[in-house]
Amino acid sequence: MRLLQKERGEKEKMNEKILLDEEEIPKAWYNIQADLPSPLDPPINPATMEPLKPEDLAPIFPMELIKQEMSTERWIPIPDAVRDVYRLWRPSPLYRALRLEKKLKTPARIYYKWEGVSPPGSHKPNTAIAQAYYNMKEGIERIATETGAGQWGSALAFGTMLFGLKCTVYMVGASYDRKPYRKVMMEMWNAELYRSPSKNTEFGRKLLEEDPDTPGSLGIAISEGVEDAATHDDTHYALGSVLNHVLLHQSVIGLEAKKAFEQIDEYPDVIYGCVGGGSNFFGSCSPFVADKIRGDKPDLKVVGCEPMACPTLTKGLYLYDFGDCAEMTPLLKMFTLGHTFVPPPIHAGGLRYHGDAPLLCKLVKDGWIDAVAYHQNEVFKAAKLFAETEGIIIAPETAHGVNAVINEALRCKEEGKEEVIFFNNSGHGHFDMGSYDVFLRGKLVDYEYPAELVKQSLAKVPKV
Ligand SMILES: *Cc1c(COP(=O)(O)O)cnc(C)c1O
Repeated sequence: MRLLQKERGEKEKMNEKILLDEEEIPKAWYNIQADLPSPLDPPINPATMEPLKPEDLAPIFPMELIKQEMSTERWIPIPDAVRDVYRLWRPSPLYRALRLEKKLKTPARIYYKWEGVSPPGSHKPNTAIAQAYYNMKEGIERIATETGAGQWGSALAFGTMLFGLKCTVYMVGASYDRKPYRKVMMEMWNAELYRSPSKNTEFGRKLLEEDPDTPGSLGIAISEGVEDAATHDDTHYALGSVLNHVLLHQSVIGLEAKKAFEQIDEYPDVIYGCVGGGSNFFGSCSPFVADKIRGDKPDLKVVGCEPMACPTLTKGLYLYDFGDCAEMTPLLKMFTLGHTFVPPPIHAGGLRYHGDAPLLCKLVKDGWIDAVAYHQNEVFKAAKLFAETEGIIIAPETAHGVNAVINEALRCKEEGKEEVIFFNNSGHGHFDMGSYDVFLRGKLVDYEYPAELVKQSLAKVPKV
């Protein structure tokens, strides 16, 4: 790598972004289930305590997605209609963060995949488009879902609109109040919106009676979406993270990144990314992690970054737990803080989830992937430095990964190491100006890890 660097001359003269041609949009998604050293623990049906059967999921998901959820095929073809929509913004650029490197005076080379170029502004339409397509093929008329920070709701509203479906979004109360323009965006794409908990579902009404001021949580909003879908024949449910098929669809990020790295003869030494449910991070790293599992890249370091206020991978327990607050979902084997845990209302709303993707959790548990947690003030500082150098105002979620990248680049400076650092830049923060305002006024608070709440919540996890 050193030699290549010299051949190419001064850093400053190098390309700032590597762009693939449109025909290089992947034709198949990569399914890491084909390459796991040992199989995933299956999801459990809480009614029977038996492994989940495909038909158990049929009331809320189309069969094609259920098949993908359980598939161990390595490559799953991307339908032409989905690839056609991807063409609107894919392949997304791989950037070299030259200005950030220079500011940090690091010998490390920092690269990021920029997913904020999609119309909703994040990686989430990579799966929203696919999910809307398969539901349309199965004759479904409406999809109900939850949204935390508003990114997933926007992506699904966009996807369902393109395939002629209706969309109902339950938006976590704290975000609903804080991000009014996310609402407008979803309505521009014809979605119907509720502040969660809402009066539109039985579960929502029950929670509002108990505590009319609850800020809501992703776990609560998921329960409302599932209840809505389960109680209407023409309606399915869609999840924007966590599930295997979501991580599968997000593999387009990693596949494109790998191709772009090949074009410039680079390969990452370390990969970082922010983790809410794990989909953008996992999608961006899974094709690289496959190389590590295969033994080709034994030294590759892969690290998920999460908030201290909701430290699922770093402080959670690896157990079977519900994916939602109302205990309507199957039991998933994952790191969890307990399904009744309501995280403090941090500004990275997209990272306030009590669990994480079972695929990601397994690879963390088995030692292939590491994790780290940060307080929000240092995370916002990282976002500010990124804006000052690379220009892009990133989502507070994304900034968790950027903070790790900055720390790593500074370590490289201290140790004189020329590492290649890669992270997925999952989305822009154009609807997060309220949060950045709070930060700039010096009013952002760091929440300690809520150990007592987590303990209470973990006590309610079912015994399997
Ligand atoms: C939703 C979201 C996340 C967190 O979700 P993951 O499934 O962990 O990727 C991160 N960044 C952005 C910009 C998001 O919209």
